[in-house]
Amino acid sequence: MVKYICLRCGREFDESQLAVMMTVRCPYCGYRVIAKARGGEVKVIRAV
Ligand SMILES: [Zn+2]
Repeated sequence: MVKYICLRCGREFDESQLAVMMTVRCPYCGYRVIAKARGGEVKVIRAV
């Protein structure tokens, strides 16, 4: 399971919540820089 973490509010969410937004954006605060955590590896994703 891939988890996403907002770099502003720190909340965690998953792919299904991200799909609702139709873009890379925190579903809670709308921040566009999130981290993708998979198997202990964290990758920062920045929306353009
Ligand atoms: Zn957020």
